[in-house]
Amino acid sequence: MVQQSLTVLGATGSIGSSTLDLVARNKDKYAIEALTANKNVDELADLARRFKAKMAVIGQASLYLDLKAALSGSGIKVAAGDEGLVEAASRPVDITMAGIMGAAGLRPTLAAVKQGHRVALANKECLVAAGSLFMSEVSKYNTQLLPVDSEHSAIFQALDDSPKQNIEKIILTASGGPFRTFSLEQLNHVTPAQALKHPNWSMGRKITIDSATMMNKGLELIEALYLFPVDPEQLDIVIHPQSIIHSLVSYVDGSVIAQLGAPDMRTPIAYSLSWPERIKTPVEQLDLAKIASLSFEAPDETRFPAIRLARQAMLQGGNMPAIMNAANEIAVESFLEGKLSFQEIPTFCERVIEAVQVQMGDKSPVSVEEVLVIDHSTRIMAQSSIIM
Ligand code: NDP
Repeated sequence: MVQQSLTVLGATGSIGSSTLDLVARNKDKYAIEALTANKNVDELADLARRFKAKMAVIGQASLYLDLKAALSGSGIKVAAGDEGLVEAASRPVDITMAGIMGAAGLRPTLAAVKQGHRVALANKECLVAAGSLFMSEVSKYNTQLLPVDSEHSAIFQALDDSPKQNIEKIILTASGGPFRTFSLEQLNHVTPAQALKHPNWSMGRKITIDSATMMNKGLELIEALYLFPVDPEQLDIVIHPQSIIHSLVSYVDGSVIAQLGAPDMRTPIAYSLSWPERIKTPVEQLDLAKIASLSFEAPDETRFPAIRLARQAMLQGGNMPAIMNAANEIAVESFLEGKLSFQEIPTFCERVIEAVQVQMGDKSPVSVEEVLVIDHSTRIMAQSSIIM
């Protein structure tokens, strides 16, 4: 394999760290071009020096001078703010890891898409918010979009380019999160500290809370709809608490193909970097005899109504997915700050969607700029209803 250049958007996050861990183990295969973060100046500067990045960008414009000071004498180009992120993502590379959290990743990820090379997509929110607009840029620029989410990586592997008429269903597995067995009454008293303890995966804070509410699975339904050749009715969810089967494709002839592995993001990240080849990772091999049994159950949309809400957003389309995504980002932040209860997260999203649609209608955005306006207006409305 010839050495490939790689930019990591969101280098200081959980996806970013796992990606850089693989790069450190495969220096002959990958060389870092640019790294970005939002406000973590020290870690970004350390990583940029360690991986000999050509550019480092900090999202918060006010931190430009701090990053410049931290990288002085290194020869590494420094930039900041939204335009800096887009500039980093626009530098020609073989692969971009899109690992920014939330809709903030939309513009930089699209800048990477416009290069027409490979984008490894972890940042599901940008696909949820901009769906078909995002995918039409992917086809316009002939970009290879490789899924990083473990479920979508599993589906990508199990589908292996099968035509739509062969597919019966796609089944996304979900661990059920830390509150899988909690009653509605117990869910009333859930704290941020409890919700931040995922039973199987180690991830960033926002996706960990999304996993606890199961909004994450809802976002993944929408992500799957855009990534794979299926209709919404062909997308199912099954709870699988061990997180060993990462998802399944069921075919019209009755075959079901699944992808299995230890719950470690380095496996799907490695595949998104090396596809169609495979590279070695430090991920522990499965010992099925030791695991002994795998279990499954149906999701409970009464205790976890975020799944129902996201499914509704997927079916309704228009601006609902973008509004729901932005409302959820604010709701998660507010829950972590103690301003909303766990149970209020989906109901809050529902209320915000209604309020925004009363103001803006429910039409589909026709441009990415419109998506950004919807995202911005929703955040303002959501923030103001939290204060009240
Ligand atoms: P983290 O919170 O761990 O990291 C997020 C990264 O994005 C950090 O580098 C952070 O910088 C940067 N960032 C955050 N906000 C902004 C912003 N406004 N502008 C620019 N950069 C920003 O998140 P994860 O790594 O967990 O998740 C990243 C994405 O990958 C999410 O979309 C998530 O849903 C998806 N994903 C994650 C998985 C996981 O295992 N973690 C699994 C599957 C998907 P800083 O450190 O400075 O704040």
